[in-house]
Amino acid sequence: MRKKIVAGNWKMNCLQEEGQKLTSEIVNMIKDEPTADVTVVLNPPYVHLHAVNKLIAGVDRVHLGGQNCSDQASGAFTGEVSAGMLASFGASYVIIGHSERRQYFNETNELLTAKTRQALDNGLQPIFCCGEPLEIREAGTHETYVKDQLTASLFNFTEEELKKIVIAYEPIWAIGTGKTASSEQAQDMHAAIRSHLAGKYGDATANEISILYGGSCKPDNAKEIFSKPDVDGGLIGGASLKSRDFVAIVQSF
Ligand code: PEP
Repeated sequence: MRKKIVAGNWKMNCLQEEGQKLTSEIVNMIKDEPTADVTVVLNPPYVHLHAVNKLIAGVDRVHLGGQNCSDQASGAFTGEVSAGMLASFGASYVIIGHSERRQYFNETNELLTAKTRQALDNGLQPIFCCGEPLEIREAGTHETYVKDQLTASLFNFTEEELKKIVIAYEPIWAIGTGKTASSEQAQDMHAAIRSHLAGKYGDATANEISILYGGSCKPDNAKEIFSKPDVDGGLIGGASLKSRDFVAIVQSF
């Protein structure tokens, strides 16, 4: 059975008290929840990690994640945060290669391999993002584009390492736009990603990898998207900042 995961990406949002309030509300709403087989990951900005980690203590299925990490282990890299630091603050996941990092911070496939290596070496599960821009979708070459992203960044990892990676398919044209991929579009891409992984690592391994959908996922569309056989959960941006919406998405399985 693949892990079902709903991860919230707060991006650069929430002042100190807002982050604590959001976390407390989420924890209170789901701590006695029957849908206990859904793993929940909160990915706040770095400065919230310590407080969020304290607030989620004791709720086993809620985990902490970073939104990024350095490709270096330590040293003179002012402003950077290492995977080891994230782990030492209680994180067990880290988002790698979000399209905003690729676009605004020029993160290349090669750099993302190094970040993924750092994450794995420090015991973090990478949530590795891939996804095509609108012009690629319109040109009809989206599957090749996404497969190439995965090949370039991940296909040098061993089978055991790959099993620790969570993939997040996030079509860029659907992120923060209110424009969601249809559940069929999500399923088609997720199946293509799984078959691409199977081509390199075999069916058994590919079937163990959780593939999340991200892009304007909301309480009113999550159920339909999550009902698809190759969709194992979601990476949630905007809706993860509203406790009720985020919890409703968690409850959509
Ligand atoms: C994201 O940025 O990972 C994301 C999916 O954002 P949104 O849900 O706001 O589209």
